[in-house]
Amino acid sequence: MKRLLQAPNLALATLWADQLVGAGIGARVQRAFASGIAGGIPPDQSLPEVWVEDAAAFDRATALLAEWRRAPHRRWACPDCHEIVEGPFEQCWNCGAAMPRP
Ligand SMILES: [Zn+2]
Repeated sequence: MKRLLQAPNLALATLWADQLVGAGIGARVQRAFASGIAGGIPPDQSLPEVWVEDAAAFDRATALLAEWRRAPHRRWACPDCHEIVEGPFEQCWNCGAAMPRP
């Protein structure tokens, strides 16, 4: 296990981990609920983190994330829950529905 990054919120951490898994890289979100359980942890240490299970996949995971962050931003409305999803995401971060194909 190797820490890949710290995400600003759980929704993004979960999305990135899901996308990595979708790309064939074992990834999971850690410490996602620490802020609600352990009092006294500094805020910057209670944010969710994305870890790769195989340290050998770390470089590939980093490259993929850089690619996703560079991707042109899209804006679409979820067909199921009508959440507006922005960014290079093809899944609704509210309900997990896939982006509608044109
Ligand atoms: Zn949705």
